[in-house]
Amino acid sequence: MNNSLLIKTLKQKLEKSETDAFLEIFDVGESRDTGELAGLAVAIKDNILYEGHHASAGSKILENYVAPYSSTVVERLLDAGAVIVGRTNMDEFAMGSSTENSAYKKTKNPHDLTRVPGGSSGGSAAAVAEGLVPLAFGTDTGGSVRQPAAFCGVVGFKPSYGAISRYGLIAMGSSLDQAGILTLSVKEARTAFNVVRGRDVRDSTSIDIDEEVAPVRTIGIPRNLIEREGIDSDVLENFNRAMDALASGGYTIQDVDIEHVEKSLAIYYVVMPAEVSSNLARYDGVRYGKSVATDTLFELYSKSRGEGFGDEVRRRIMLGTYVLSAGYSDAYYRKAQALRGVIRKGFDTAFETVDVIATPTTPTPAFKIGERTNDPLAMYLADIFTVPASITGLPAISIPSGTVEREGKALPLGLQFIAPYKKDLSLFTLGQDSEKII
Ligand code: GLN
Repeated sequence: MNNSLLIKTLKQKLEKSETDAFLEIFDVGESRDTGELAGLAVAIKDNILYEGHHASAGSKILENYVAPYSSTVVERLLDAGAVIVGRTNMDEFAMGSSTENSAYKKTKNPHDLTRVPGGSSGGSAAAVAEGLVPLAFGTDTGGSVRQPAAFCGVVGFKPSYGAISRYGLIAMGSSLDQAGILTLSVKEARTAFNVVRGRDVRDSTSIDIDEEVAPVRTIGIPRNLIEREGIDSDVLENFNRAMDALASGGYTIQDVDIEHVEKSLAIYYVVMPAEVSSNLARYDGVRYGKSVATDTLFELYSKSRGEGFGDEVRRRIMLGTYVLSAGYSDAYYRKAQALRGVIRKGFDTAFETVDVIATPTTPTPAFKIGERTNDPLAMYLADIFTVPASITGLPAISIPSGTVEREGKALPLGLQFIAPYKKDLSLFTLGQDSEKII
């Protein structure tokens, strides 16, 4: 299939667009004219490899990096006839919740250009919300697909850990990273997931999920997680209204207690930086990307990394190195890993009485550009509801749940469902039903 018209139309739309969602539109050649996604324009986040195309992970250190091979996600999309039209903006190495940590540009929220689209897959979420593409891929390590989906009013899905191969994804935190899907509807997300999912011999952590799933009847609300200081009262009201609607729609809603779940964010900010510090050691100015010419090897390392990485990335490398260092790893890293297991057990126990867990996706609607850039802790809190599914490897979806008004603009909010491990498919059935009900 010849795709020149598709690209021409996209470029015309982009001329009118003010969100800065894309970093680059690719030169697209022929694509397959059969397959489930034949002729469908798909955008990929800048940390997903597509052979022969740039992938910079939003970082200066990979500014001119060209992918020498394609990720499994891209291969499976191409096999299904999809047309990969370009790469979208993101927080550097997927670290952030607003896309403001990109080394290249700031993406804006299509619902209010003075606000962030969320992050780190902010470019992918904005591109779908604006109608530039019907499908975009992101990655989700602690919420980076679900949180921008909520801020931009689209569907965001993160599978069970391993359900989508990580082969060819630029790594952030390997025990947490998953590719994720952004679309306008749950049905489209389901179709895309069926194309890319499943075991891949090139990623030993990849898995096949359960094909048979029982219908969802009971929805659990973890009150100890969601009713806390700092949660916007409009968000809680919106959530409670959605739960009432689901109850009227025939679902049983009940409170559940998931032991220690409220500590998830603290655990994440020990485990994730530890893995970041290890994964990003490969950017040494020798093997990949930016290399600064110097007289000594030490200077080569320090200048290439110093000039190549932005502040947030450096902060996390230092945090990670610290929590892994001799004398501290028992106190921090090991303790966090142990508690991670306890929380997973807590979820498993809760799933003995309820079929899925529901929370708001984010504690607030989209915040203003610049509002949190000098306050990393406030930025980290944006993921308070998404991180529990990440540290436990459970599948989760965010669906739009209406809007809240701020300064005359209607800002979207998201409703998150978390399912048992490998029960990803139940999220789509529930999600499609919820789209009609709430
Ligand atoms: N916002 C979170 C962070 O900064 C999650 C990022 C992600 O999922 N990639 O780590």
